[in-house]
Amino acid sequence: MYIEVLFNIPLKTTFYYAATDKPGNKDSIKTGVRVSAGFGKRKLTGFIVNILKESPNVDFEIKNIERIIDDVPLFDDDYYDLAKWVSGMYMCSTGEALFSMIPSGRREKDFEIDVAEESLENFSRITLNKGQKSVIEKIQCSNNSLFYIYGVTGSGKTEVYLHIAEDVLAQGKSVIYLVPEIALTHQLMDYMTARFGTNIAVLHSGLTPSQKLKQWRRIQTGEAKIILGARSAVFAPAKNLGLIILDEEHEASYKSGSTPRYHARQVAMHRIKTSKGKLIMGSATPSVEAYHLMAEGVLEKCELMEIAAGGTFAPVRVIDMKGQDSAISSYLAEKIREVTAKKGQVILFLNRRGFFYYYYCLYCKYEFKCKQCSVSLTYHKERNKLVCHYCGYSETPARVCPSCNSSEVGYSGFGTEKIESDINNFFPYLRSQRLDKDSIKKGSAVKEIFTKFKNNEIDLLLGTQIIAKGLNFPGVKLIGIIMADTTLQLPDFRSAEKTYSLITQVAGRTGRFSKDGEVVIQTYRPDNYAIKFAAQRKHTEFYNAELENRKAMRFPPFSRVIRVIFRSKEKEKALLAAKDFYNILAQNKGSFDILGPAECPLALIAGSSRYHILVTAKDIKNSHRVVSGTIEKLKTPSGVYVEIDVDPVSLM
Ligand code: ADP
Ligand code: ZN
Ligand code: ZN
Repeated sequence: MYIEVLFNIPLKTTFYYAATDKPGNKDSIKTGVRVSAGFGKRKLTGFIVNILKESPNVDFEIKNIERIIDDVPLFDDDYYDLAKWVSGMYMCSTGEALFSMIPSGRREKDFEIDVAEESLENFSRITLNKGQKSVIEKIQCSNNSLFYIYGVTGSGKTEVYLHIAEDVLAQGKSVIYLVPEIALTHQLMDYMTARFGTNIAVLHSGLTPSQKLKQWRRIQTGEAKIILGARSAVFAPAKNLGLIILDEEHEASYKSGSTPRYHARQVAMHRIKTSKGKLIMGSATPSVEAYHLMAEGVLEKCELMEIAAGGTFAPVRVIDMKGQDSAISSYLAEKIREVTAKKGQVILFLNRRGFFYYYYCLYCKYEFKCKQCSVSLTYHKERNKLVCHYCGYSETPARVCPSCNSSEVGYSGFGTEKIESDINNFFPYLRSQRLDKDSIKKGSAVKEIFTKFKNNEIDLLLGTQIIAKGLNFPGVKLIGIIMADTTLQLPDFRSAEKTYSLITQVAGRTGRFSKDGEVVIQTYRPDNYAIKFAAQRKHTEFYNAELENRKAMRFPPFSRVIRVIFRSKEKEKALLAAKDFYNILAQNKGSFDILGPAECPLALIAGSSRYHILVTAKDIKNSHRVVSGTIEKLKTPSGVYVEIDVDPVSLM
């Protein structure tokens, strides 16, 4: 017997092997089963994707496989089609697609799912409000398949999702429920177990490969009909898929950071189209793309404008940081004292690490932006240059402000260390806790911190955006964003969107439970439209302004972007490969623009230099075909690696 095998390598071809008829072998030689086989000098794991009765007509010797790994296939024909779609869409090999979609666990060890804190009996049903009822009815009666619940924070989207899920489950179909972070699955898991019992599977990156495989089998057999998980759960082998829920649609974590760089939203749309089910997305701050699709009617918009548990939003105060010499303004410091004196709790947001210096006019706050791309120029201190990381443009910074002629121009950057030490110096008596990326890796640590915070054993929680999502803390009376500018200054065309979204999400976390809550936003740019509109809750105004900018600059949603990254330990080689690519691409006069090659904003990662090229087009079909063809033609020298990102979310 002969088989065709796909490996986790960037080659499109399948490889032939012979599978001898050792006892027991014959029954398990099926497509979808993993085998171990010699590949050059290595031994690799691969998937059987085809079985041949006759010897293939090739002029080399066909080797025997070493071993068959699984008894039961891990995927079927439909699933293989999905892998092919992923490989086409995101320009990787089908093998790479399959290996990223399917868990790699070896043994299917026992794995206990989180034990629910509540039992089925004491689950009490929430009475739906008018808004929730009408959204549910709208979705159930509509012939559309794509829906968007645009609902303010706390509007009770979860209840709507679960109500519809219940209905779909009753029809014998399965449901995939996606959340952006594993930290959020714990809370929801408890609640869902109480509501639906034990037919829930969890899939997220915090599980070991064998735990994942165990969950995979439960889904495959149909034992688990609800799949709860982060990004990769969109690939769950759900039987008779009736519904995908994608909560917090705007979250960048739905986009994979490694090959294939898929977006769960895009995969979900594709799967729903094939399975003829429904997709419900939701957020208080839709991505600009989703907002646009709602306006165009591609996504059916369902609005929830009231806070389900009652109450109003807390007032938002914007503090101009000009002239403040501490990272905590005197206003915020006073507020922290006031609130904690009354036993109220405080959340402070540190945005991402300040990688970048930014350059601006201290007097009129003029921002130095690229004339071509309108993204912020990044200041390179050691070279004294302002650089555009999209098109490669650079200039020596002007000594006087081009707008107001002030000579007070300069650079700045706030380190997170400074902020932490300021807090400890100002408030040594407070029980402060930092919650960052490292503690998030351990799901249990996050849970612990949240439990302590809930039990009032922590006064001040200092964290990244992770704490902005889905968590309700009744004791919180004050939320501060230390530096809204760190997000605003990212050399990224989405910087305004990210800033708006962060402020709106954060501002939605307080005030639900108390009348006297407040949100404080510190910034050097109080007049920036993203900050202003978010603070004033002028949401339509923000999206309109942002859409206008995007249109003028031909950025998504008015174009689609393909980003091609070249990396190498040798800087020259990476640049040369990027230039080669550019030249081949430029010969294909098509309806697309090519930006670059430019140094990536994160120009050096793990010793590798990085350059990128951005291909933008109104219609992605043509640019996708040309880029894909160029990649295949391109002879990259050894030591140069090419990564392709279709519809990138981050351009770092
Ligand atoms: P969202 O996801 O829209 O931000 P959630 O679904 O997290 O909001 O709901 C916010 C809070 O409102 C939760 O504590 C939830 O239990 C509560 N809630 C939801 N629906 C109702 C309702 N109909 N009546 C009262 N409280 C509700
Ligand atoms: Zn100025
Ligand atoms: Zn530029």
